[in-house]
Amino acid sequence: MVDAKQTVTEIVARADALYHDLEFGAVKRWKETHPGGKVIGCLPTYAPRELAHAAGMLPVYLRGAGDQVEIIRGDAYFQSYICQLPRGMIELALSGRLDSFDGFLFPAICDVIRNLSGIWQLHFPDKLARYLDIPQNFDVEVGGRFYAEELRRLLTDFEQLSGQKVSDDALRHSIGVYNTHRRVIQNLMDLRSEKPWLVPADETYLVLRAGDVLPVEEHIEMIKQYLQSVVELERPMRDHSRVVVSGAFCEQPPLGLIRTLERAGCYIVWDDMTISARFIAGDVSTSGDPCVALARAFIEQGVESASVYSCKKKKGSELCETVRKAGAQGVIFAAPSFCDPALLDQPMLQTALDQESIPWTAFKYAENLGQFQVIREQAGTFSDSIRLWGA
Ligand code: SF4
Repeated sequence: MVDAKQTVTEIVARADALYHDLEFGAVKRWKETHPGGKVIGCLPTYAPRELAHAAGMLPVYLRGAGDQVEIIRGDAYFQSYICQLPRGMIELALSGRLDSFDGFLFPAICDVIRNLSGIWQLHFPDKLARYLDIPQNFDVEVGGRFYAEELRRLLTDFEQLSGQKVSDDALRHSIGVYNTHRRVIQNLMDLRSEKPWLVPADETYLVLRAGDVLPVEEHIEMIKQYLQSVVELERPMRDHSRVVVSGAFCEQPPLGLIRTLERAGCYIVWDDMTISARFIAGDVSTSGDPCVALARAFIEQGVESASVYSCKKKKGSELCETVRKAGAQGVIFAAPSFCDPALLDQPMLQTALDQESIPWTAFKYAENLGQFQVIREQAGTFSDSIRLWGA
């Protein structure tokens, strides 16, 4: 018991240190142990990290500056009525914190990210700044072919940056490694919905966020050890309600806000805060053309998110399904202020929930929000109401 507690404490402390280190010491250490190795920073939401891994690079998810960095120069680049994430990204770059990165990938999710990729190309011409188009058509023969070609072009860029030719076998191997990663993350997600009192939301969040910066093999081991140890702990089951958090897939809520939701009486049994690593549900095929396999998986196994165009199902049906599968009693819509994708989707998702009599509440945040009292009261009232009067 003591060992399990100690192991969990150490894992969470390490994940917490990685989360708070905006000097990216882990990246610098990786470069020291991989002379000549290249690091690619990936913006949210989903990046095909298998391509970078196969090229011998370290892919690192970047999610703004959180609540730790005072934004001084970042504000000068943007109008006031957009989200906070791009300001934080500019601040990190101009302050030299991203100097050890060799390239940046900007997946197509919104105009803000598209514009940020343009700013990057102008200001940091010595770094690779790659905008990644994603399919708007979900026919494998149309959108799938397009995306496979886009992935091949991206792989060529990565090969040039790393100076390493990537064979199909190497890429299949990387897909296999990320399949393992997806599976251990799914195990953690399953435990969250089965016994959320064992895996507090802030702890799970930190452990999953460690995967933003750690090599994938290390992160797999970290999650496995965490899972093995945490199930041995005796943590009290509280009289909390079970909620799904939706809308936080890009700019992240402050850690204090995640803690606030749980302290307000909500077990978060599913969320899209760390959806980047769970964007493909299940394994990607490791046979045939690996770029086609990745493209097919995106088309056929990609989860519903406001950050991708979706025409596969009725909007919101997947969220309702998630609520049912996770045994949740309600949904908290937590979206970054001015986030077009999240806030434009929200009314459609709310309608879908209303049609299935699933209660919901909604608030907005910024990554540098400092006061949580109002949200605590709102979440606490929501939690009480669904426990007392929910179905
Ligand atoms: S928070 Fe929303 S609007 Fe801002 S960059 Fe992310 S997806 Fe775009």
